[in-house]
Amino acid sequence: MITGRTRTFGLLGHPVAHSRSPELHNAWFEEHGVDARYVALDVDPTRADQVVSALRTLPLAGVNLTIPFKEAVVPALDAVVGFAGQVGAVNTVVRDGDRLIGHNTDGFGFLAGLRAEFGDVVPGARVLVLGAGGAGLGVGAACASAGARSVIWLNRDVARAQAACDRAAAHWPSVAAQAGPLDAASFAAHAAQVDLVIAATSGAAADTLASFDVDRLGGDAIWCDLNYWMSAPPSLARLRARGVAVQSGMPMLVYQAAEAFRLFTGLTVDAAGALRRMV
Ligand code: NAP
Repeated sequence: MITGRTRTFGLLGHPVAHSRSPELHNAWFEEHGVDARYVALDVDPTRADQVVSALRTLPLAGVNLTIPFKEAVVPALDAVVGFAGQVGAVNTVVRDGDRLIGHNTDGFGFLAGLRAEFGDVVPGARVLVLGAGGAGLGVGAACASAGARSVIWLNRDVARAQAACDRAAAHWPSVAAQAGPLDAASFAAHAAQVDLVIAATSGAAADTLASFDVDRLGGDAIWCDLNYWMSAPPSLARLRARGVAVQSGMPMLVYQAAEAFRLFTGLTVDAAGALRRMV
């Protein structure tokens, strides 16, 4: 029952209608007897500079942020801690009294989802990240922070890939970081020498990714496609035929949400159980 004391949490972004975060958080509130609800709020992207002041005014207990607000809110928060500070992007805001504190659970979620299925494969791994938007930057940086041997970002806008590289070099100097264009030739040049490929472009790049020669990958490579909302990632059949293990973005979604829930409530949830319900 919703009462005058029920706390409200939410996801702020644009678009948010496809999000499965409300399903996860509301199930956990119910399971743990927390008097709270979680809603998806579609926020006008031109008002990014007003998001934090709205959070200071409205009594939202905590929020997650998605495209296009993760980076835009950083300057207005009272503190940005841990991995969020290293990547310059926030996906979770919690209240500490009057202060709004920014966290980033995306990197944790990606690594935890990968570990749950494949074990501790990132230390020493050679990683190829396709895309250097917020998600590509974050998962590549998470791999760097977890001891990857190298991280290569390929992006349509090469300056964004270079920026991801520069950030990795500043925070994790022992990792060999490289940038290049997102095209078939660059993919072909790197494919045979990587252990983990992370497809982190938006759906609009599906045709570009489908043009890549995935037969150049080693058969023991792992391919993660963060776009959990796609029925199948580009090249799925060819990847399977090559023997490449494929993971969707659903584990990342569930584990980042579980970590955000812990920050919101202090409670640890059964993320593996939630993942079984979601797929
Ligand atoms: P973003 O910051 O908007 O970045 C979009 C990325 O896609 C950029 O690398 C962009 O390249 C590329 N791109 C867009 N259109 C392209 C095209 N036509 N050809 C080639 N590249 C193109 O978005 P994001 O936050 O990184 O999110 C990327 C995807 O990851 C989204 O679909 C999102 O749903 C998914 N995601 C999943 C999770 C999860 O938990 N599983 C978490 C976060 C994000 P340019 O820089 O050249 O424009």
